[in-house]
Amino acid sequence: MSVSAPTRPRRRTRVRVHGTVQGVGFRPYVFRLAGELGLDGFVRNDSRGVVLEVEGAGASIESFLARLQPDAPRLASLERVEVEEREPTGASGFMILESARDGLADAPVTPDSATCEQCLLELFDAGDRRFRYPFTNCTNCGPRFTIIRDVPYDRPLTTMAGFAMCALCQAEYEDPRDRRFHAQPNACPQCGPSVTLLDGAGHPVGAGGARDLTQAAAWALRNGAIVAVKGLGGFHLGCRADDERAVATLRARKHREDKPFALMAGSLDAADSLVMLGEHERDLLVAPERPIVLAPRARGAAVADSVAPGSRELGVMLPYSPLHHLLLADVGTSLVMTSGNSSDEPIAYHDDDALGRLAPLVDLFLLHDRPIQTRTDDSVVRVLTLAGRPRTSVLRRSRGYVPASLPLPGGTRAPLLACGGEQKNTFCLAKGQRAWVGHHVGDLENYETLCSFVDGIEHFQRLFAVEPQIVAHDLHPEYLSTKYALELDGVELVGVQHHHAHLAACLAEHGEGGVAVGAIFDGTGYGADGTVWGGEFLCGDLADFRRVGMLAPVALPGGARAVREPWRMACAWLGAVLGDAAEIPPNLRNLVDERLWRQVQTLVRSGVNAPVTTSMGRLFDAAAALCGMRPTVNYEGQAAIELEAACDSSERGRYPIDLVSDAQAFVLDPRETIRALVADVRAGTAVGVIASRFHAAIARGTVDVCVRAASAHGTDLVVLSGGVFQNRRLLESASAGLDGAGLRVLTPALLPVNDGGIAYGQAAVAARLCAA
Ligand SMILES: [Zn+2]
Ligand SMILES: [Zn+2]
Ligand SMILES: [Zn+2]
Repeated sequence: MSVSAPTRPRRRTRVRVHGTVQGVGFRPYVFRLAGELGLDGFVRNDSRGVVLEVEGAGASIESFLARLQPDAPRLASLERVEVEEREPTGASGFMILESARDGLADAPVTPDSATCEQCLLELFDAGDRRFRYPFTNCTNCGPRFTIIRDVPYDRPLTTMAGFAMCALCQAEYEDPRDRRFHAQPNACPQCGPSVTLLDGAGHPVGAGGARDLTQAAAWALRNGAIVAVKGLGGFHLGCRADDERAVATLRARKHREDKPFALMAGSLDAADSLVMLGEHERDLLVAPERPIVLAPRARGAAVADSVAPGSRELGVMLPYSPLHHLLLADVGTSLVMTSGNSSDEPIAYHDDDALGRLAPLVDLFLLHDRPIQTRTDDSVVRVLTLAGRPRTSVLRRSRGYVPASLPLPGGTRAPLLACGGEQKNTFCLAKGQRAWVGHHVGDLENYETLCSFVDGIEHFQRLFAVEPQIVAHDLHPEYLSTKYALELDGVELVGVQHHHAHLAACLAEHGEGGVAVGAIFDGTGYGADGTVWGGEFLCGDLADFRRVGMLAPVALPGGARAVREPWRMACAWLGAVLGDAAEIPPNLRNLVDERLWRQVQTLVRSGVNAPVTTSMGRLFDAAAALCGMRPTVNYEGQAAIELEAACDSSERGRYPIDLVSDAQAFVLDPRETIRALVADVRAGTAVGVIASRFHAAIARGTVDVCVRAASAHGTDLVVLSGGVFQNRRLLESASAGLDGAGLRVLTPALLPVNDGGIAYGQAAVAARLCAA
């Protein structure tokens, strides 16, 4: 006798998934999972993420929910899953539905992602229909942020809109079992973008004896040509890394005297021959973000001297698009791949602009016809050792990372825009608990960068549906980002002090709500008292701060000129030590005009055109100049970078440094440091030894002030931030000293320690101040 199984009750569950779930193969994944578990229902993108309903046996629904997060595709990141019971409808089958547009666009738009392993296999498989196709991609890889025009992320709203898929591509696109199901930039040689090769005058060039135009460009590179290559977020200028003539020519044409050029190596092994890589650096190099990784130059690296003069580190990345993979494979050596611009202009990303601006710089253009929507520079990262542990530190956060969101602790009551600083500008939009830090805009000093700042803000406002009601800005009245903020109508304005923004950015990134002492060292920032700050010890939280210490103030002779001419700071600091007796040091006599030196002394004495500053960056400049290293620089921070590079790591000595305190604040007084440094220079001590002793003094002084301030203000938390802490030696030794003193040390990790991080800090402060 058989007993029929009781009909198990059907359940229907609605699931809303928040996070990075669009354009990352999430819907086909849900489709396959539901199929495997015998569930009916649907899945759909909408402008808030993904919504799905599953119907079937309760146990199947439970295992669906249990597996949804752990088994998700590699680029997906689920932040929140909301589950709600529904009445079963009895409908059978599982469907992927069209995107719904409901005007609430805040679905995460994902960053661009490096070519995946499977696409790479196809790229080099002579039997595959995408063999050597430079625009191969799938749901696990390819362009995203750089091609998206609007949300939801669907092909008609990307720069792929103009390419109609061929029958084969369309079939892949519609097949939920295919890796290219709903891969918006899906393409093949029959229907997708293609490359063109032009000479420096803009005339088309044929493949010659090469099999295709990409190989023709590679051959030219191999023979010493300089080629403008259109990539994901803009143009690179490429040439062989080991060809001194080519690299020197590129430097001369680009008018970039010393700033290091980034390299692209064809493989991890090739990168290994250029730089010394630890496990963490390797992981970063092969990560889907594919940043430029800074690491110490390897002995015997086949790199021309002009690639990174005066630097012990090299910046290396691996290919991140199929076009790069093909080029590197065909050239067979590493390439210089530096930003496609002249000197400090923004990187070119439109064909017309590139053809106009870059023509005098290059022999060839390797172009393609997939437009770039948003200029996105390569990101730059490195690995630091802090408290004995390796830690990633982002120096420029752009391609591969942007526009992934960061949490905003405490959230914001109203939609918010933070305009950032003047140099290395980024902006930040925030809504609810979430903040989007924009791509690296650069120095807001010309019309082009200002336009990309304004366009970037508008683009992000659309993508994430943020209509700012609160606008945060720096206190500096002359920053273009401040002026932009002050011209906005009908918004609540919040001015945030520059160094407080540095402190708050670090606290917010680490989710710290309490009070910390911050040693915030940078070039310059507008102080709360209207003077030029830059070597500050603050005690504060997201809402407020007090200035509890500072570097001893000194004259900044000639204002901005002192940034480009570190010898002026040498003159100012020497004057502070020796007074009127400060003669030009013998080692500077051939480098600096003695008449000018005396003029600057007069400025320092009179205070005319010589505002006082507490800038730590300028103190490093002065030390480098006094060593005779860099009386003038070609980019800000160059003297300090070279002083750090010069350090003799076997040296254990340290110069004295004084710490003075009154009721208000601690003052770090480096006059004895400078006096000892000058004595060493006079005695002919090696520059490496001097540089080491100087670094050790500043690190010790920093630790001493932080320890005392932390104890005076009842906290055990210290933040180290500001552009000066790009100095690895200073950061690592100060951090080790503080760690040894039992204090907790935080430094920015996801966002730059430099001014690229302050927009997020401004947002955190403004959100807190406007919380009521
Ligand atoms: Zn792929
Ligand atoms: Zn096709
Ligand atoms: Zn700063």
